[in-house]
Formats: sequence, C-alpha cells, structure tokens
Amino acid sequence: MRGLVYTLVLGAATIALVAFLAARQQPPDSVRDLVTVATLVVTVALATVIKTRLRIRSTTFYFAWVETAIVIGLAVAPPSWVVLATGLGVACGSITRLAPIKVAFAIAKHTLVAGGTAATTLLLGTAWPPREPIGIVMLLGFVYLVAAVLDDVLAIPVIALASRTPILRQFRNDLDLRIAGFGVRFLVAVATVLILRIDPRLLPAVPPLVLSLHLAYSSRIRTRTEQQAWQRLARATDALNVVDLDQVLTTAVTEAAELFSADEVEVELREGGRVVRGSAPGIAYDGTAPPSSEVDGRIMPVALEGHDRADDLGVLRLRFAGPVELSEREQYTLRTFASALCTAVRNAQAYAELARIADAHAYAATHDALTDLSNRRHLLDEGTAHLTTRHADGVTALVLIDLNHFKEVNDTLGHGAGDQVLIQVAERLRGAARPDDLVARLGGDEFAVLLRALPAPAVAAHRAEALLTALHDPLDLDGMRISVEASGGIAVAPATGGMAELLRRADVAMYQAKRAGQRIATYAAARDTADLGRLTLGGELPRAVADHEFTVNFQPIVDLASGEVTGAEALARWHHPTHGLIDPLRFLEAVERSGLLPAFAEAILDQALIAAGTWRDAGFDLPVSVNVSPRSLLDARFPGAVLARLRAHDLPPDRLVLELTETLTLSQLDVVDRVLSRLRDSGVRLALDDFGTGYSSLSLLSRIPVHELKIDRSFVTAMETAPEAAAVIRSTLDLGRSLDLTVVAEGVESEPQRRALWELGCAAGQGHLFARPLPAGALLAALQRGAGGRPGAL
Ligand code: C2E
Ligand code: CA
Ligand code: CA
Repeated sequence: MRGLVYTLVLGAATIALVAFLAARQQPPDSVRDLVTVATLVVTVALATVIKTRLRIRSTTFYFAWVETAIVIGLAVAPPSWVVLATGLGVACGSITRLAPIKVAFAIAKHTLVAGGTAATTLLLGTAWPPREPIGIVMLLGFVYLVAAVLDDVLAIPVIALASRTPILRQFRNDLDLRIAGFGVRFLVAVATVLILRIDPRLLPAVPPLVLSLHLAYSSRIRTRTEQQAWQRLARATDALNVVDLDQVLTTAVTEAAELFSADEVEVELREGGRVVRGSAPGIAYDGTAPPSSEVDGRIMPVALEGHDRADDLGVLRLRFAGPVELSEREQYTLRTFASALCTAVRNAQAYAELARIADAHAYAATHDALTDLSNRRHLLDEGTAHLTTRHADGVTALVLIDLNHFKEVNDTLGHGAGDQVLIQVAERLRGAARPDDLVARLGGDEFAVLLRALPAPAVAAHRAEALLTALHDPLDLDGMRISVEASGGIAVAPATGGMAELLRRADVAMYQAKRAGQRIATYAAARDTADLGRLTLGGELPRAVADHEFTVNFQPIVDLASGEVTGAEALARWHHPTHGLIDPLRFLEAVERSGLLPAFAEAILDQALIAAGTWRDAGFDLPVSVNVSPRSLLDARFPGAVLARLRAHDLPPDRLVLELTETLTLSQLDVVDRVLSRLRDSGVRLALDDFGTGYSSLSLLSRIPVHELKIDRSFVTAMETAPEAAAVIRSTLDLGRSLDLTVVAEGVESEPQRRALWELGCAAGQGHLFARPLPAGALLAALQRGAGGRPGAL
C-alpha cells in the first residue's frame, strides 16, 4: 500500500510541476485574481474538512467534497491555478489532523484528480468554460463525471488493499450511495456555477445549500452503515448459537474481527485459562499459554458477563494495529456481542457438562460398578455388533468363568471380602486378557471373556487356560490368603444364533467342565441337551419341589477286590417335564440360591432313606451316602431334620453317610462345627467328598473327624499319566490308614485303574466300570442279579 501511495505522490508531483510552469505563463495579476485563488484554496480546504468517514481496520477513509470544489474552480479560473490550489487546499485541510502518509495520499490523490479534470477541460478547447445554462449542465456534467471516476479509480484500490477485499467488490460496495452522492454534489456544482454566472452576489446562498445537502447525504450513509452493522451483528450472534464450545470460540474470534474490523481478536476463558486468538481469516492460537501478540497498538477488552453481570466467564479483546477509537454505536455493538458470546459460552459449557454426564451414564449402563468390567448388556451388545459385522480375519469365542465356592466366601467372611475377591479376580482377568478381548462380569461370581480375531478355534482353549491360570495364585484379602477355584467353559461363535447362542454354549460348556471335574471344557454339541439356562429363572424351582420332579439315582460303591457292593451314593436328578433329565451341577446353585435348599435336601434325603429301607428289606443292608450342600451346614436345624428323617424311616444313623465337600465353610465357622458334631455324636457317618481338590488340610481333619475320604475323580483319571495324581492318591491312602478312615476312589472307569488303586491299597471305589447311577429299583435288580453267581457283587 505504501508503494502505491508513493507512486501516486510521484504522479501528483509531476502534475503539480506542469501546473506550476503553466501558472507562470498566466500569473494572477489583479486583486480579483488573488481573491479567486485564495477562495479556491479555502474552499478546497473546507471541502476536505467536511466529509463522510469510513473506518476499515485501523485505517479510516473519508469521502469529501473536494472534487466539487475542483469542478467549480475550473469553471471560474485557469486550470493551472485550480490544480495548485487543490494541492494547497487539501494540505491545509488535512495536515494537522492526519498521519503523514495519509496527508501525502490525500494531497497526491486530489492533485491527480484536479490534474486529470483540468486536462479534460483543456481538451474541450473553446467550449470551456461553458456560458449557456444548457452548456453548463452538459459540460459540467461531463467534467464532473471525469473527476468522480478519477477519484474512485485512485481511492478504491487503496481501500481494497487496506481492507483486504477484492477491488471489484470494493467498487460495488455502496455504489448506489456513491452515485447518489455524486449526483448531489454535481447539482451543487451546477447551481454554484449558475449563480456565479447570473449574479455572484447570490453566492452566500451556496454554503447553507451545501451544508444541508451534506447533512442529508451523510445521514443516509450513517443509516445505511448502521443498518448493515446491525445486520452483521445479528448474523454474528446467530452464528454463536451453537453448542460446541470450540465452534463458539472460533466463530466469536472470526466474526468479531470482521464486525469491528479488528486486526486481532482474542477470547480468554476464566475457566481453565484457555485463550483463543485469531483474525477474520481464522484461528492463529488456541491454548493456555499464549505468546505475546504480534499486533501492537490499541487493545480493547470487554468482560464476558451476562446481562445481569451475574457471571464472569472471561474476557474478549480486540486488538488494532493503529490508534483506533470505536464510535458509540460500535461500542454498543461490542457490548452486545460480548453479552451474546457470554451466553453462548455458558450454553456450550452447560451442554458439554450434560454430554459428560450422559457419557458417564452410558458408561455406568455398560459397566459393572464393582469391578469396572463390562456388564452383561455391554458384552451382549459388543458381541452382537462384532458377530454381525462378521470379520473375515479370525474366529470369535467366548470363555465363561465361574468361581466355585464363592458363596461360602460371602457367607463366612462377609460381603466386603466377597467384593474384594470379585475385584481381584476382575483385575487378574483383565491382566491376563489381550487387547482385543472384552472382559465382562455377568453377575454374581460369573465372568466372561470375549475373544476376538483368534487365528484358529483351537487357540481359544490356550487363551482360556491362560485366563484361569491367572486365578491360580491365592488372593490376598487384607493379609489373609484365599484360593479361588474357577471353572471355565469355552464356545466358538456358531454360524447362527448370534451372541445369545454363543453365551448359552459357553454356559453349557462350563457346566460340562464342572460335571466332568475339569477346570475347562469346550462346548461339544453332542453333550448339549437343551437350553437349561432359563430353567433356573422364573418359577420353575418351587414347582419342581412341589411336584416331586427331583428324584435320586444311586451309584454303587464296591469293594475293589471282590466287586461286592458296600454302599451306594445318592445323586440328585431333575426330571423336568419338557427338558427331560437334568444333571445336578446345572441346578444345584440355583437351588441353593433360591431358599428352597432345605425342602430340596429333605426330598433327596427322604428318597435315599426310602431306597436304603427297600434294599434292607430285600436283604442288602447297605449304607446310603447323601451329598450335603455346604449351605445346609450353616443351618443349625439341619441335624435335627436329618435325625427326624432317620427315625421316620426307622433306619439306624450309621446307615447314613453324609458327604461333605471341602470348603471354606467347613474350615471357618463355629456353627458348622456344632452341626457336624451333633450329627457325628448321634451316629451319622461323615465323608469328605472330592478330597484333594479344595481347601483341604490336615488341621481340618483334626477338627472335624470324619469317617471316610473320597478321592476326587480327577486324581483317578490322571493317576496313570501324572505322577503327582498318583502321589496324592498314595498320601491320601496313607492318611486314611493312619487315621483309620475308609477311603473310596471316585470315577473308576477302567480295569487298569481298579487294579492300580487296589495295588496302592485302596479298598473301595465307584465309577462307570461298575455301574452308572441307577434308579433305586434298577440298583436292587442289579444287586439281586449279582456277578459271577454272587448276589450283591458287581
Ligand atoms: P459327586 O458327589 O462327586 O458325585 C459324583 C459324580 O461323578 C456324579 O455326577 C456321578 O454321576 C459322576 N460319576 C460317577 N462315576 C463316574 C465315572 O466313572 N466317570 C465319570 N466321568 N463320572 C462319574 P452327578 O450325579 O452329575 O453329580 C455331580 C455332583 O453333584 C456330585 O458330585 C455332587 O457334588 C452333587 N450332587 C449330586 N446330588 C446331590 C445332592 O443330592 N445334594 C447335593 N448337595 N449335591 C449333590
Ligand atoms: Ca459325592
Ligand atoms: Ca466327589
């Protein structure tokens, strides 16, 4: 822009030189001439002062009457005088009030306009100056047009440069108003010239005319400017009406820069000290540690406070490169804008808070509050989403993990400890999971891990193994070490049925694991009977108890040497009307949880005792073993109930063996001690079931003297391949011998197992090798049939 001004100054200086040389040929030689020149200079100076103001950024532009004065001057005086008087007049009118560069620009521009216009009159030759009224209007009009166009051509590029708008757009801006202005000033010029021609004494009428026209015109301009300003303010505040804080701040900065023609705008928020800075084209800085501004000049700060000044959110700063004053209207606009920005910021902050709360709710809805793992719903949703967008790359599988004996932890150590166990288990699972896995707590002591993008189905088993291994080391509950055992079920995503079916299959697999006495089982369609998960829901259990749907099968316990049957274990079965026979491991937990345990236990005990009575009547006086839930041992009325059933069926107490599972409950609680002592003192025999797997310890045995140990099936299964299993069996047998306990091996499935057990000194066993669990009548028939001609042997 500076370069442009210098060019103009150079051009103007040339023209002034030419005019000076011409004026030397035709110097003012009379007093009249001197008055004319002086009047010209004063008129131009006045015309420079009376003007319409337009501020763009820190630069203010003025539209003045100078070209009117030039045209009038040309009608009454030699062109060279007019050019020189114009330069001089503009200098007088502006020198004290404007910056030097602007004075230079003003003088140069008007000198050039005067020069150009003067040249035009010279081209008109003798027709100029016009004398007839028609000529005055026509020629004056032409000359005036030249002056006006020259004025625009010189001014507009500079304004466009300063305001960074395209020249053409700047030219079109307010074109109508400018044309109207030209018209008005042209009329003034014509009127003045006519008056001078008719009678110069009328000249005093000219200034009032000019003044009133000027006032009318500039009030039009002001109205127009104001209208546009309000519209822009309305648009700007509208644009602030968004809920995203970033967008509010960006919009505020760019719109304010535009609205107030500021060189830089900055919004500083009190909360968090965030500063957003920029100008009309965009944001230059957004952060909390702004560098000092590059715009050095006037700063106008406005507090961001609401109408009621109740809140103070921060400050809006306008920066100008030069010494700018805002008009009253602009100050009002600024306050209005700041207030709208305050509202917008407050709304955006409120919205962000709402969004945060909604997020937190969404998180809570999909996560388990205790362990912070995903919950069942989230697992189902994520799994469903994953299965429906079926990834070509890899297999999806689900591992279901169920803690054994968790209820006893809760019952004996309290819910606080139970929660601790769950939290620590969750941590271990999370630690053992891969980034792709989704670990969830389904409720209670049931966990699930969704394995995604597995390279092959077989990998699922390894990963499940790793997950369960993570639970292997004892947990530390405030210094107390507790072992958790868990069972796992693995299922690979089926082709149909989606997530619900996947979950069901993993569930089936988990029960298969429990039943088979394994830590982990993989879903096998062959062993899947029906959807039993639902059975434990709804009102199924009370009906099952009421309708005697629970029955008992009996598995004989035999002498491993002779095959003679020495007892029978009662094993519960659920004859479900639609689902058929259901294994105990699938409903026992639900029964224990339901409050129906006493009724269930009594029904089983009754049937066992009835069966024993029938066998005795048939000549086989066998003790019957009945499994007891740990929960029953927490019930002080349990011994009374057992003894009452024995009396009712007229059986001596030593015909009943109660099989207890080694649990935390057995080891920790006084009530258990009392219940067991009472049973034992009244002659009932006690067996420790699943010996070797649980919380067993010798101290337990010394405190609760039992009559019998049952070696868990897993050791029998593994004894031929795993030396550790054989070692456990051997030491159990040693223990049995030294404490004078009967030892029964469970799960004897093969002849080699039987022989090996017998050789180790194990006298009794049960298992599929001898018989599967049978209804009482079928067992009696088998006893009567006998083996090798010996009734009572298998
Ligand atoms: P348990 O007391 O260890 O019972 C032995 C389980 O092993 C029975 O499973 C039986 O059918 C199975 N079994 C027997 N011989 C073999 C064999 O050679 N190979 C294999 N693989 N398995 C064999 P069942 O009947 O499904 O019972 C499972 C568990 O349910 C029982 O384990 C017991 O803890 C519990 N249970 C059964 N009936 C009752 C009951 O009336 N009350 C309570 N509280 N628990 C019961
Ligand atoms: Ca048992
Ligand atoms: Ca057992």
